[in-house]
Amino acid sequence: MSERARRALVLGGSYGGLFAARVLSEQYDEVLIVDRDRLVGETGPRRGRPQGRQINAMHVRGLQVTEELFPGFIKELVADGCPTGDYAGSVRWFFNGQPLRREDIGYTAVPATAPLMERHLRERVEQLPEVRFVERCDIVDLVTTDDRTRVTGARVRHLEGDGGEEVIEADLVVDATGRGSRTPAMLEKFGYPRVPEDRIKINLGYVTQHYEMDDDPWEGDLAFIPVAFPDSPRGAIFTQTDHGKVELTVYGLLGDHPPTDQEGFYGFVKSLSVPDIHEALRGARPIDEPVAFHYPVTLRRRYERMSRLPAGLVVTGDAVTSFNPVYAQGMTVAALSALTLRRHLRRDAEPDPAAYFRDLARNVIDAPWDMTTTVDLGFPGVPGHRPLKVRFLQRYLALVQAAATQDAKVTTAYMRAAGMVDQPQALMRPATLLRVLVGALRHRTGGQARQPALVRQR
Ligand SMILES: Cc1cc2nc3c(=O)[nH]c(=O)nc-3n(C[C@H](O)[C@H](O)[C@H](O)COP(=O)(O)OP(=O)(O)OC[C@H]3O[C@@H](n4cnc5c(N)ncnc54)[C@H](O)[C@@H]3O)c2cc1C
Repeated sequence: MSERARRALVLGGSYGGLFAARVLSEQYDEVLIVDRDRLVGETGPRRGRPQGRQINAMHVRGLQVTEELFPGFIKELVADGCPTGDYAGSVRWFFNGQPLRREDIGYTAVPATAPLMERHLRERVEQLPEVRFVERCDIVDLVTTDDRTRVTGARVRHLEGDGGEEVIEADLVVDATGRGSRTPAMLEKFGYPRVPEDRIKINLGYVTQHYEMDDDPWEGDLAFIPVAFPDSPRGAIFTQTDHGKVELTVYGLLGDHPPTDQEGFYGFVKSLSVPDIHEALRGARPIDEPVAFHYPVTLRRRYERMSRLPAGLVVTGDAVTSFNPVYAQGMTVAALSALTLRRHLRRDAEPDPAAYFRDLARNVIDAPWDMTTTVDLGFPGVPGHRPLKVRFLQRYLALVQAAATQDAKVTTAYMRAAGMVDQPQALMRPATLLRVLVGALRHRTGGQARQPALVRQR
């Protein structure tokens, strides 16, 4: 298609596809986004993204990248009724049932329901002149050259009208169809090796419900987040969100799933390691039914380990890595993946898929994947190998978490790493390490250990 307009085809129009379309529009004359759902004008949850009924918070780094790609995005959310506050200072975190010490860290949190945030992102993408949405089309197959060395487009089936099939040709195809991506199966069908996968069985159950409330249990804060731990393996995220709504997600791992009947749901909330949320619900009126989502395994597809890949195809978002949703990494990783893709795009040359996947693995996925699998493997019932490095990191993270209940600077360091602003190794910097050791000792001795002068000066 060298003399013609250069076209990129994005399969899937959720976060992964929208972020990818934004960077593709810088280099391609035409960017088509295909999805089986109707997207333009959609304001509620939709079938192709069932997790849209659950809580969906974006980490600091994800918001930073979104703001870079779509300047003014945060202001738009706030103008549309989203509350805002400090990412660490306005959130009441609880580790092992104990509140963390906290301070403002200067990064904005903007809780928004998933459909609202997706709509705002999509509306910005709709404004890009290069982008066109091809809705209500099921992606049936990838199309290749006869020798299978290049992907040249995709075959789609129209879900409305005559239900006919059509081949959409493109210079580059970006698979953003999420966790259920069929690319691995299609590659095998074309004679490529099986895409290696890492999986961790966590058997997570999520249940979310929304409320109206007259009281303000937060007293100026944004959210309560008691995190699940091996000793208290049930967690929750209770937050204010857009238009005065209140969103509560409760979850349990390893089959300990919250019930969806109202009484059972409240009973689960009562069993959490902190009573605050159950007490706050006394003044709450549910505005929908509790909705469940079962998430059996985390999944990382190791495209970077493939010995051969076809030209003309890259993959992004959950189609590469589907993280434990409790850690809220997916949207941020989708945004960072778009920045990686951007580094590999040229006006006059096509991206090298192998180089893109290596870059993506090393510079985007490795850190959050390692950090969260380390935490998940801390639950004794989660099957998986725990090499010395993982056991060491688990011990160290336990010290960090204990210290964060004593020292706001440790909380800040932890939130920066969890929010993907810093690499997890930043938690091992000498000044942080010292605070962690002192804080953990104070935690163990019931807050009695004195801080050494070096720590007190900071
Ligand atoms: C319960 C739950 C809670 C989560 N909470 C958070 C959170 O708090 N914070 C966070 O950052 N992330 C969260 N995530 C992850 C986040 O939702 C994803 O990372 C994010 O949506 C990016 O995914 P994606 O665009 O790659 O894929 P998806 O969002 O899954 O979208 C895939 C798109 O492809 C379309 N599609 C798929 N197959 C086809 C086909 N054959 N033909 C046509 N269209 C197709 C679908 O309609 C859909 O629009 C959560 C996930 C779950 C499951």
